[in-house]
Amino acid sequence: MKEIDALVVGAGAVGISTAYHLAQEGASVAVIEKESGPAMHQSGRNSGVIHAGYNPKPGSLKAEYCVEGNRQLREYCQDRGVPIREGGILIVARSDPEMMVIEELASRGRANGTDIRVLGEDEIKDVEPHTHGIGALQAIEGASFDSRAYVHALAGDASNAGASLFYDSKVRSIKESGKAVTVNTAKGRFMAKVAVNAAGLYADELADELADDMRVIPFRGYYAELSPAKTPLVNSHIYAAPDLNFPFLGVHLSKRTDGRVIVGPGAMLAFGREAYDFSSFKGGGLGKTLGWPGFYRMMMRSEFQSLARTEVKKSLMLRAIAKEAIQLVPELEARDFVRSYAGNRAQLVDRQGNLVDDIVVRETARSVHVLNAVSPGLTCSLPFGKQLAEQALSKL
Ligand SMILES: Cc1cc2nc3c(=O)[nH]c(=O)nc-3n(C[C@H](O)[C@H](O)[C@H](O)COP(=O)(O)OP(=O)(O)OC[C@H]3O[C@@H](n4cnc5c(N)ncnc54)[C@H](O)[C@@H]3O)c2cc1C
Repeated sequence: MKEIDALVVGAGAVGISTAYHLAQEGASVAVIEKESGPAMHQSGRNSGVIHAGYNPKPGSLKAEYCVEGNRQLREYCQDRGVPIREGGILIVARSDPEMMVIEELASRGRANGTDIRVLGEDEIKDVEPHTHGIGALQAIEGASFDSRAYVHALAGDASNAGASLFYDSKVRSIKESGKAVTVNTAKGRFMAKVAVNAAGLYADELADELADDMRVIPFRGYYAELSPAKTPLVNSHIYAAPDLNFPFLGVHLSKRTDGRVIVGPGAMLAFGREAYDFSSFKGGGLGKTLGWPGFYRMMMRSEFQSLARTEVKKSLMLRAIAKEAIQLVPELEARDFVRSYAGNRAQLVDRQGNLVDDIVVRETARSVHVLNAVSPGLTCSLPFGKQLAEQALSKL
């Protein structure tokens, strides 16, 4: 194959956004994806929330891309006819300690430039009449969108701008020599001046020794959903005040663009990187996860152990998710919940057992590796992909 400017591995939101921005800049670019289409993993199995930017710590990459990405993504969905449902996010406090979390999130949101309001008990009812709390944070710019439709639309735009997309092509390795990079796939070799690794749950494996000190550990998020008769009890998004050590966890009720209300997710170790049910080991890697020193150290941390117990319960028992959700919407009953889908989160864990909280990108002379496209990676994807494209272009 003739050498092109850039190869992007992975047709999730991050890879497709990178390819789109590269093509827009006039670079010749090809996306190589192992599945038969885009958004088959994290970018198609998630909560579908356009986050507003009150969670990430000010100064973090996540904060910068989330706030900018929120505005760009909402505009993109409107322009391109991608299903979107505006309505804001409500984070509800049910106790004084939770109210302190709300105040911390409000201060982060203000520092990040997010449009937020702190509501008293009575004002909550104006936004979500069936929710109960002593106070809440309302993030006006939060919304729902159809993430799969978004990545498909962006893939179409990338293709129209000149990008080529190759599906059913699993990348085995990325090798650099001199001024070229070779990407070996099950279907043959591709050569380019630069490669971008946006392989999500497998990004650490393709980064090889560049990711020696970190490992992707897949956490499976299980969702329940409300029976159709109960969906009118939720207007938009209702979140419990999170544990600030693990803000990506905690139950929320979210009205999707199709009107269904998803509840969850729980989070537990997935037995394979693409294993989406209890008995599956699909995607492999369990042995490597269990043998990773960082996994052992993470499991030994006391705050993680108590959290793991709650999260495993929420993943295994529908009534454990229901119990948390009923605290947010007391009119619900256990029988109103049914099991729904699951998605696996690529969580980077370092050798010391810390869950890496911010986006991590590492580079060599001819490659850019996205090691931690951590949540809210969909919301971040437009400005983040633009930045990755710029990093790749600087190597041409
Ligand atoms: C349960 C859950 C809920 C979430 N909710 C939200 C939310 O509401 N809002 C939000 O903003 N973010 C959310 N996120 C985070 C968001 O989904 C991710 O940050 C984002 O989708 C990451 O995109 P990505 O392109 O990096 O990865 P992915 O979407 O996983 O894409 C990686 C692609 O690489 C391909 N690939 C992997 N290995 C190879 C290989 N060897 N060769 C070729 N192709 C390969 C995969 O098949 C895949 O298509 C959630 C995540 C999860 C798991």
